[in-house]
Amino acid sequence: MLSCRLCPRLVGWREEVARVKRRAYRDEDYWGKPVPGFGDPDARVLIVGLAPGAHGANRTGRMFTGDSSGDFLYSALHRAGFASQPTSRGRDDGLTLQDAYISAACRCAPPDNKPAPDELAACRPFLTQEITLLENVRVVVALGRIAFDAVLRVYAYQLQPILPQPLFAHNAVASLGDALPMLVTSYHPSRQNTQTGRLTTAMFDDVWSNVQGLLQ
Ligand code: SF4
Repeated sequence: MLSCRLCPRLVGWREEVARVKRRAYRDEDYWGKPVPGFGDPDARVLIVGLAPGAHGANRTGRMFTGDSSGDFLYSALHRAGFASQPTSRGRDDGLTLQDAYISAACRCAPPDNKPAPDELAACRPFLTQEITLLENVRVVVALGRIAFDAVLRVYAYQLQPILPQPLFAHNAVASLGDALPMLVTSYHPSRQNTQTGRLTTAMFDDVWSNVQGLLQ
């Protein structure tokens, strides 16, 4: 996966960002490659985000690490008991996840945080493979609509037609069917959402309370 170059546009962007860098990080070596999933291999909770941030995970090499989305996510995970610390600065910062694993719909940083449909399709096998390997997952948390769609596509062949099709809404819970995880959806903790009040700390904490309740 780390050597994947299937999407020429994303390969060009992730490597250009890593080469040009942001001024504040000019002394750092950017990761500039696909970002692997991160967390507890025995996790009961799988968190699916959108894609690495250009100067976040594309810089640090760990999901949701090094940008404001990650700050918002990891502080909430820490309050809920899923993360060992509230901050996530770099791959060697000592952060561990308990009972949670973080992945994404797309492994490479996309321009404007918008992967194209063909890029999402090309990357989906990596998410499928992770879901297959994470045998204990009971709850999938999709952060944002793109992650929600990606999760539904991964499970599409197993979805039971008798169940209502899950709809995207903040803090909604849907059943994917017998023997499949529950799906919880949340607005993405992007700066655009958190700074406008579309997603508040209290709203996000409610999502993780909901997840904890589903694990009981
Ligand atoms: S987005 Fe996924 S499929 Fe495309 S180049 Fe990156 S790792 Fe490969």
